[in-house]
Amino acid sequence: IHPKESMAFQAEVKQLLQLMIHSLYSNKEIVLRELISNASDAADKLRFEAVSNGGLYEGDSELKIRIAFDKEARTVTINDNGIGMSRDEVIANIGTIAKSGTKEFFNALSGDQAKDANLIGQFGVGFYSAFIIADKVTLTTRRAGATTAVRWESAGEGDFTLEDADKTTRGTEIVLHLREGEDEFLSDWKLKTIIRKYSDHITLPIVMKKSEWKDGAEVATDEDETVNKASALWARSKNDITEEEYQEFYKHVSHDFENPLAYTHSRVEGKQEYISLLYIPGKAPFDLYDRDRRHGIKLYVKRVFIMEDAEKLMPQYLRFVRGVIDTSDLPLNVSREILQSSRDVDAIKAGSTKKILGVLEDMAENKPEDYKKFYAEFGRVLKEGPGEDFANKDKIAGLLRFASTKADTDVQEVSLKDYIARMQPEQDVIYYITAESFAAAQHSPHLEIFRKKGIEVLLMSDRVDEWLLGSLTEFEGKKLQSIAKGDLDLGKLESDTEKEIQKKIEEEAKTLVEKIKNSLGDQVKDVRVTHRLTDSPACLVSDANDLSGNLARMLKAAGQ
Ligand code: ADP
Ligand code: MG
Repeated sequence: IHPKESMAFQAEVKQLLQLMIHSLYSNKEIVLRELISNASDAADKLRFEAVSNGGLYEGDSELKIRIAFDKEARTVTINDNGIGMSRDEVIANIGTIAKSGTKEFFNALSGDQAKDANLIGQFGVGFYSAFIIADKVTLTTRRAGATTAVRWESAGEGDFTLEDADKTTRGTEIVLHLREGEDEFLSDWKLKTIIRKYSDHITLPIVMKKSEWKDGAEVATDEDETVNKASALWARSKNDITEEEYQEFYKHVSHDFENPLAYTHSRVEGKQEYISLLYIPGKAPFDLYDRDRRHGIKLYVKRVFIMEDAEKLMPQYLRFVRGVIDTSDLPLNVSREILQSSRDVDAIKAGSTKKILGVLEDMAENKPEDYKKFYAEFGRVLKEGPGEDFANKDKIAGLLRFASTKADTDVQEVSLKDYIARMQPEQDVIYYITAESFAAAQHSPHLEIFRKKGIEVLLMSDRVDEWLLGSLTEFEGKKLQSIAKGDLDLGKLESDTEKEIQKKIEEEAKTLVEKIKNSLGDQVKDVRVTHRLTDSPACLVSDANDLSGNLARMLKAAGQ
């Protein structure tokens, strides 16, 4: 038995709460969406645990969400019979600890209300959004199989209280004590409209009391009514799903606030049987580079949620993809270990990867504006692809975009295909330069001769570029060649007379080169006459087989 105790929110949680209440004030309807989404997750978790422990149902396996309101008390209640939470889980999940990524989130805030509201949405508002419309929230919960329940209560300021509670039914009940001026939520019509708008795709029934009009007033009857469609959206036929439904479902699975850039919904039959509904977000999440990122693809087996996995169902370079895969090929009690070594999972992963690459190819070709947006958010991640996914290397390479000397801006818009199409008649390789910043690449003395001759050079300055170039050595039969490595042989791009002249200059400079070599000694491998400079007197070059100067710098910075 625990006496009632008061606990403080972590400073970051407090800050987040304040921010959310103030900047999301015009998006009040999302509160219901978030709480229903949590109730639905809780049902998913119960179903999954019950696969191996049927006793958790306690004789009640009809999972549902119930919503009610009380005009007198000015409360709205969201009730579920999902997994519930233990005391420790309450403290961990909605108590003291901020979500991973909270720090990064605060760093990204701009102070501009509209922009920040957007960011908060991306961060995933979740349970705390309740305080947008409530000045007190009471959550009572009992974990499936447990005998004791716990009550959490807070006004969303500095702290919350915890106490033991009586709750016979399993699951979680959340009572929102509405703020002054939020009475619009005390309406049957209003609540049902919000549920249909934001939560129609939720797989469980969302139940409310039917209401009647009596003497010009709305009164609740004793009869239950299921407000949403309550069927798995992905299992429905495409023709029966509206654009809005696809978008709302995306927001549910991705915890994003905005619409996705694109999606693909397909049913695969034959050797493998699965349905996939996959989305490409419009914005990168905060934890894109965080090893412990939380979201990925939701795996279902015959409509039962199994787990959300960031690794096994999508390659790393497509880790921004969100959505659902529902298969009948795996057993319901599938574990992470089984997933790891399952051929079916490998086949599903390969099929889904192809699908996404296809969507991206289509977007690049037919919706260039969208592709630009996509590339600005995820291009750097996509560049990890050729090194990770050998089978799709060419496809991925075709999707990459680079900055080049043609536009001479840091916007990455040039595809390798564009580059090849613009190559000089005598040119047979793709020239690039890597540097630690765009400015360094753009102003490299190595570029002088290329600019003079009007030969386009790709300007690469993303950290991932060196890694990319390690595995992407050619494209459509054209080699990629660094202009900062080894002897620069412009081959057929130079005329015979140019070559004659160069030879002569080299002869004449022999004694000068010897002198410089002697005075630099061990500090350099070699000193050579170069024809690649037109304005600068000298430049440093790596040996053709050495690490590039930029990679050497990166390794040094990483302490290697
Ligand atoms: P998220 O849903 O993104 O994890 P939330 O802030 O919405 O973030 O919820 C935080 C956590 O609180 C959830 O991950 C879950 O563990 C727990 N939780 C919230 N609502 C419920 C509920 N109705 N039943 C069980 N657990 C819940
Ligand atoms: Mg949530």
